[in-house]
Amino acid sequence: MTTLTTSSASREELRAHYNDPGTCPTDSLVPIPLADEPAFVSWQQDIPRAYLQASPEELERRISVAREALGTKLLILGHHYQRDEVIQYADLTGDSFKLAQHAANQTEAEYVLFCGVHFMAESADILTPPNVRVMLPNLAAGCSMADMADPDDVYEAWDVIEEMLGDGTTVVPITYMNSTATLKAFVGEHGGMVCTSSNAEKSFRWAFERGEKILFFPDQHLGRNTAHALGIPLEEMVLWNYRLPSGGVTQEQLERAKVILWMGWCSTHQRFSVDQIEKARKEHPGINVIVHPECRADVVQAADQNGSTEKIIRAVTDAPPGTAWAVGTEIHLVNRLAQNNPDKTVFCLDPVVCPCSTMYRIHPAYLAWVLEGLLAGHVINEIRVDDETRKWSLVALERMLALP
Ligand code: SF4
Repeated sequence: MTTLTTSSASREELRAHYNDPGTCPTDSLVPIPLADEPAFVSWQQDIPRAYLQASPEELERRISVAREALGTKLLILGHHYQRDEVIQYADLTGDSFKLAQHAANQTEAEYVLFCGVHFMAESADILTPPNVRVMLPNLAAGCSMADMADPDDVYEAWDVIEEMLGDGTTVVPITYMNSTATLKAFVGEHGGMVCTSSNAEKSFRWAFERGEKILFFPDQHLGRNTAHALGIPLEEMVLWNYRLPSGGVTQEQLERAKVILWMGWCSTHQRFSVDQIEKARKEHPGINVIVHPECRADVVQAADQNGSTEKIIRAVTDAPPGTAWAVGTEIHLVNRLAQNNPDKTVFCLDPVVCPCSTMYRIHPAYLAWVLEGLLAGHVINEIRVDDETRKWSLVALERMLALP
């Protein structure tokens, strides 16, 4: 792979480089200036030029100075998939569920800097008091899975499903945390709730106490794996392809289905395969294989265990010394697990090192920009959810937080 920099290549060359499926532009995972990140061309561009060439050492110094000066009026939340040079500044870390709990429980800070992706910062804004201002370092840090559930497509699907089923059937909508605030509000208003991979099974049980069917979006894999864990056969699940009329589903399939799965997926977790599991078992007899439930159902069923990011961390951390673990989730988390468990063998199932490309967009240069701005009295990249959306998404989030 050739190394391109923004100073040596045109935007078109960089785009071609970044979009080449045979290229993983972030495969070295070493800190480099923002301008040298091959994918920077797709990230938030209005960051002042002074930050582009700043070295990792300079950024570290500037972030530390600003962070200390801001003291307790600032809380930094960091998702486990963040790079090391960012997660080191987090006051609290977690998966999306734990970070939502941290946001809901915090009472002191005036500002929350969310080192994660857009939907998580929206949830933090919803769960914190209205006077708390939430910021996302890089506004281009979205989530490709969340983008697969466009609110208009979901509203249309809801109407079509209601029409096909008639009045006698209650469908409960559940959205994965990885969705826009608009969709969280939609499920809140329509008697449903939000879930994360930590509580998806509980949320399905909750829904089946209130209706006969679940419409689950955006992640088909988490939905399918959760339904499978509850003993629902594949014939009682349908995949709703929002690009096709009536979702590509027949009347008979819809009537038979207990779970209607939205056709979304996580590009990071789709990379894991049964072949990788078989290879790991062949090369390391007795190895434990643990994967995230955003992986495909065949992968989850071939693994020894599956669970949320927090569950994966607990399983590896609490395991006896000398054990070996092949892990199917984002590479930064797996690398950190390996570093923190030197008495065990821990590696990523996928031999090609590619992080979640949207989480990766939180580069330290954006942190320095937002923190120094805050120190100068400017709130940069604030995430604000409007009052009506906030009201109903809070209903959906609080139903989740109230699960036993
Ligand atoms: S790992 Fe997948 S689901 Fe999570 S933020 Fe990245 S793209 Fe979205």
